[in-house]
Amino acid sequence: MKNLLVMTPGPTEVHEDVLNAMAERATNPDLDLAFYEKYLGVVNKFKKIVKTNNTSYILGGEGILGLEAACASLIEFGDRVLCIANGIFGEGFADFAKMFGAEVVIYRGDTERGIDIVDLEKFLKKDSNFKLTTVVHCETPSGIVNPIEPICKLLRDKNILSVVDAVSSIGGEYIDTDKWGIDILLGGSQKCFSAPVGLAPLCISDKAMDIIQNRKTLVVGYYNNLKVWKTWYEDKWFPYSQLINNIMAFDKALDRCLEKDFVSIHKKYADAVRKAFINCGFELFPKSHFSNTITAVKMPEGISFRTLFTDLKKEGVLIGGGFDFLKDKIFRIGHMGENCDLEKFTFLFKAMDKVFLQNKIKLESSILEEFKKLIVS
Ligand SMILES: *Cc1c(COP(=O)(O)O)cnc(C)c1O
Repeated sequence: MKNLLVMTPGPTEVHEDVLNAMAERATNPDLDLAFYEKYLGVVNKFKKIVKTNNTSYILGGEGILGLEAACASLIEFGDRVLCIANGIFGEGFADFAKMFGAEVVIYRGDTERGIDIVDLEKFLKKDSNFKLTTVVHCETPSGIVNPIEPICKLLRDKNILSVVDAVSSIGGEYIDTDKWGIDILLGGSQKCFSAPVGLAPLCISDKAMDIIQNRKTLVVGYYNNLKVWKTWYEDKWFPYSQLINNIMAFDKALDRCLEKDFVSIHKKYADAVRKAFINCGFELFPKSHFSNTITAVKMPEGISFRTLFTDLKKEGVLIGGGFDFLKDKIFRIGHMGENCDLEKFTFLFKAMDKVFLQNKIKLESSILEEFKKLIVS
């Protein structure tokens, strides 16, 4: 279908070994008991990456399914839910909570930087009567990473459950689920894991599990109902046929993540990419709290995002743009998973230098040259 290099903030490039794993002949995932062991092994690899002993499932669906499942399973009609929002995904989480009947309160932070923990603490002193709080670890649309460690510790002290959307950060940012007291941590296969789109790995604390199991009203939905997973291993029964090919690909992708110091690699690429743009005269969108996985850069004068995107596509590479309040204002590059690679970035920046030149945008230096200097040092 393509010969384009995908440098967007997810989905990311999938390694050949992972693609081959996806293409292996599959067994019947319901009836072949060996698959239950395989699935358990994949779950355990995921748990190792996010440092948890909590229960973990890998739902068969895109990352959004995890967000929906957390809301559907935890929220009962009229529950008070606090949604922390300093970006588009944070706001979107509030819509999910409302859909399942929550009385939502939104705590809004600066959209150009991470959540201010002192201010949040002040807010919670006045009102902390919430069953749960949703928070986005990495705001993918703006490249901002929120300080979830102090946020989740604060919520734990206030006895509020924390639900963290870490779809674009797991693998690229350090996460210690158990130490930080994250009650539900949500991931996706297609971001830093660089597996194909289609799986939503998550983990759930005992406390959150108890609340889900003891809810008074029925969960609305089945595919998004975390209750139905409870005895999958003991009973050798999955709530629905597992996406076995995706699971096999994900297994291989997890092996590739566990082989190396994945977070350090992400940080190294993030630092070099950001600095290269700054050295060339660009301005980054965030003022602070830069993500290890996405760089969001303000569009320079004299070129539209549409032109930049189209011209880069002609050169064989895809980048991301802004949406909602950031539409046409920024361009975004994903340095996630397999995209943290010298050859891929050389290809991207060579194309960028060319496209800016042909559109008569004067840069202070070559993005590729700056990047090369930074990535080796
Ligand atoms: C990618 C992503 C999701 C999943 O959303 P899609 O737009 O369907 O890919 C959810 N949350 C975050 C923070 C993400 O980056």
